[in-house]
Amino acid sequence: MNTSKRTELSEIGEFGLIDRLKEFLPAKSETILKSIGDDAAVVKNADNTVQLISTDLLMEGVHFDLAYTPLKHLGYKSIAVNVSDIAAMNGTPSHIVVGIALSNRFSVEAIEELYTGMKLACDAYSVDLVGGDTTSSRSGLGISVTVVGNTTTEKVAYRSGAKINDLICVTGDLGAAFMGLQVLEREKQVYLANPDMQPELLDKEYIVQRQLRPEARMDVVKSMQSLELQPSSMIDISDGLASELLHICKESGVGAYIYEDKLPIDPMTFDTAREFELDPLTIMLNGGEDYELLFTIAQSDYEKVRNHPDISVIGYIKSADEGVNIYTKGDHLVPVTAQGWNHFKS
Ligand code: ADP
Ligand code: MG
Repeated sequence: MNTSKRTELSEIGEFGLIDRLKEFLPAKSETILKSIGDDAAVVKNADNTVQLISTDLLMEGVHFDLAYTPLKHLGYKSIAVNVSDIAAMNGTPSHIVVGIALSNRFSVEAIEELYTGMKLACDAYSVDLVGGDTTSSRSGLGISVTVVGNTTTEKVAYRSGAKINDLICVTGDLGAAFMGLQVLEREKQVYLANPDMQPELLDKEYIVQRQLRPEARMDVVKSMQSLELQPSSMIDISDGLASELLHICKESGVGAYIYEDKLPIDPMTFDTAREFELDPLTIMLNGGEDYELLFTIAQSDYEKVRNHPDISVIGYIKSADEGVNIYTKGDHLVPVTAQGWNHFKS
């Protein structure tokens, strides 16, 4: 690493930084099938099973706002977003360790509330919370969760396996978590202006819940296993469909065409986007935090997903020189670009 020159983090962004760390930290052991660069690291055991390891850090003021985030939901979410990375490898989570950094602003009861949410999620995904670390913080609450899971060398799904002509699939619907966040932010501003006002969230329950208490799509991973459906590549949607599709294409060395009219959106997301004068397509592409799965399958597997209630086929894989594009409803072919979240933008 070059230590004599100062490069601003904002110049290379989060993904640029990760690329540099990846070069700096080559894997030493031959048992490491995947190091930095996928949803989880993959380590081979003596048989054909593999261990999956992933970690995610949630910081107050960056990832959550305690003005409208119940601690129980936050606990649930911190587990679910980690399990989602194991789902994205076509794996099963088994163990969790949790580190928390807190100030004396929090009572014992408040921390128990956080852990009640974590416990609920651990029960829902059948994982055991087996340890962690506790420390003090001077700048808000921090929650670091590490998850361990497993799968086999045949089943593990990398970002890098997409092949030309594969179908591109997505689970659930897109953009709801982002619109839920817009509603929560709006209600917070209303409350700050007039604390007597009651929040108007009742008719926005679905999208608010998608923001506050997302689920990892372990149900779809299980369903794919019973259908004997092996994804050729997979990633979970944490930063937005556009950003994740670009990751799959870059890692697989391919291009892609997707279709606006195939993208799944809940009517509440669509209507709320319009209410906020936002373009529903932009929200679906760049919304983020949906924790749905984006994956590719061989065309010969189409029948397995055709009538699946939780899976939409949104396009297909092309060669790299075709680029990554979307056919909009007006039949325009537009390049897909990632707005994503650059944490280092000031
Ligand atoms: P995800 O959105 O699936 O959690 P990230 O974009 O956070 O994935 O990370 C992509 C890859 O970069 C992962 O393999 C992750 O382990 C690795 N990574 C991220 N930050 C660091 C870091 N500070 N040091 C080493 N590896 C990192
Ligand atoms: Mg991920």
